[in-house]
Amino acid sequence: MSTATREETLGFQTEVKQLLHLMINSLYSNREIFLRELISNGADACDKLRYAALDNDALYEGDSELRIEIEHDSEAGTVTVRDNGIGMNRDEVVENLGTIARSGTAEFLKQLTGEQQKDARLIGQFGVGFYSSFIVADEVTVRTRKAGTAAEEGVEWHSQGEGEFTVADIECPKHGTEIVLHLKSDAGEFADDFRLKSLVRKYSDHIEVPVRMPRVETTKDEDGNDIEGSGTTTWETVNEATALWVRPKSEISDDEYKEFYKHVAHDFSDPLTWSHNKVEGKLEYTSLLYVPGRAPFDLYERDGARGVKLYVQRVFIMDDAEQFLPLYLRFIKGVLDTRELSLNVSRELLQQDPKVEKIKSALTKRALDMLKKLAKDKEAYQTFWNTFGSVLKEGPAEDYANREKIAELLRFSTTHTDSATQDQSLADYVERMKEGQQKIYYIVADGFNAVKNSPHLEIFRKKGIEVLLLSDRIDEWLMSHLTEFDGKSFVDVAKGELDLGEIEGEEEKKAQEETAKAKEDLVKRVKEALGDEVQEVKVTHRLTDSPACVVLPEHEMGFQMRRIMEAAGQKLPEVKPILELNPEHGLVARLEAAEGDGFTDLARILLDQAIIAEGGHLDDPAAYVKRLNDLLSA
Ligand code: ADP
Ligand code: MG
Repeated sequence: MSTATREETLGFQTEVKQLLHLMINSLYSNREIFLRELISNGADACDKLRYAALDNDALYEGDSELRIEIEHDSEAGTVTVRDNGIGMNRDEVVENLGTIARSGTAEFLKQLTGEQQKDARLIGQFGVGFYSSFIVADEVTVRTRKAGTAAEEGVEWHSQGEGEFTVADIECPKHGTEIVLHLKSDAGEFADDFRLKSLVRKYSDHIEVPVRMPRVETTKDEDGNDIEGSGTTTWETVNEATALWVRPKSEISDDEYKEFYKHVAHDFSDPLTWSHNKVEGKLEYTSLLYVPGRAPFDLYERDGARGVKLYVQRVFIMDDAEQFLPLYLRFIKGVLDTRELSLNVSRELLQQDPKVEKIKSALTKRALDMLKKLAKDKEAYQTFWNTFGSVLKEGPAEDYANREKIAELLRFSTTHTDSATQDQSLADYVERMKEGQQKIYYIVADGFNAVKNSPHLEIFRKKGIEVLLLSDRIDEWLMSHLTEFDGKSFVDVAKGELDLGEIEGEEEKKAQEETAKAKEDLVKRVKEALGDEVQEVKVTHRLTDSPACVVLPEHEMGFQMRRIMEAAGQKLPEVKPILELNPEHGLVARLEAAEGDGFTDLARILLDQAIIAEGGHLDDPAAYVKRLNDLLSA
């Protein structure tokens, strides 16, 4: 290699500095992962070159045997990881090894508290990548050249991990990337043949690219002693070098599946579960799908990375092929390898290929089945649900055909436990249904406390009828797409007439009718006093403790959805609520006895309170407060 030219010193992006600092200080107990990260990058680089060379064989520069090589020098205290993959040009080096390209990492760093303990745990939650070199090295040199460029377009990157790095042009006869780690004085253990080999096996058996290490063979003399200076270096492939998904399931250990996950998902923590399938026949493909144990930062971002790693007949085609899974399963990671597509398929072509739809529908079923299996392990499923539940809730709207399968996978808070943890299934609910109960009752409001304490639940609590408590932003949207479960329809208890069906006896119904008759006059007066603030006034038997509540007509959009749409700038036609009064309540009795302005004020207070209890906003809260204060001081 000739001397470097055009040398330039640059500062790491602020986030990189923070990351380096954290990593060096908190990943101390798990230092060996640097090797996994470097091998993973080398394998990705080989995949990329193989793909690019499909169109242009010349990119191999006569060396199409893709591989990773690892060497060490215990005297110098160095470890070298080399690949003959795609390589990088100068701009790419600066971009990839000077900034944090991965979205969400900056976000992640913002969340750090500085408490070492906590940081160590948090840092375990995302991929650390190339920078993990500095866990074991105090000096890192990268030499790289992009495949297909001239020998003098090589680049050398060098850093001691302390805020700055240098880049320079160098001559690089071979394409690909070489990373030389100068080990810290306390990391000398890694410059050891045995240690490196066992790490390579542990971290890269599942990678198709061979990882080779040198073996020095010496010729022996007649007495069996090594002949000095007779050593010849041969390269030995240390890993299995077969793509994991190609191997038979029975021969793959859980640890191997987990390691492979970390490689494909660029994740640092274990997956919750996986499903590995080889399908032959009309549609041929192999898929290996994983449910991650934690959410990526861009889960709710429109253009967040999603989808599977796509291979066609073992040739890597692209990362994040999002066409093979629906949006509501965007948390699933993994690999799809198929012979149904051509090697030169592009994202655009994927959109037009009818086979893609077929594979998508098959993978969707696999993923849903995998979740169903996971649900048998309550604890693991709860982790899944707490992490991805609100994404899965998009399912019934997006995937009508599978909505029953999805419904089985949903978990809810209900009045059975009154806990904010969503851990009850619809099957659990149905099993506990009262005799004579034909519907599944639910209520939606903003916030768990609002929903749990809603006046609408009073009658249900009194009668011991369970109600699903929904308070996620997406819940009303979800419920508008769930029509039935197990032949039972869903009823929003805050909308329309309250009909408990056969749960209520004939006598009860008769008594209610009589009360309604007796209060006809009161109802008329309240309606007159409130004018068109309300659509209708009624007496109700929904309530036991509260004096009044507001109800929406059955087919009206709920309060939650209205608020979301209004917040998004949508103009919605106004709906007037129905005010329902509890004839048994003292305040209602007092209302009945009141007259003139006193009557009007009390009626308005009851209406405003009912709106507040629903989590709604008053047009004129000050007027409400004044009326209430007048009443209190009267
Ligand atoms: P990730 O692999 O998750 O993208 P890394 O920090 O490991 O994150 O690597 C950052 C980027 O640097 C990679 O996406 C890749 O573009 C580039 N890179 C790293 N190592 C290599 C390599 N050996 N060959 C080519 N490019 C590499
Ligand atoms: Mg990486």
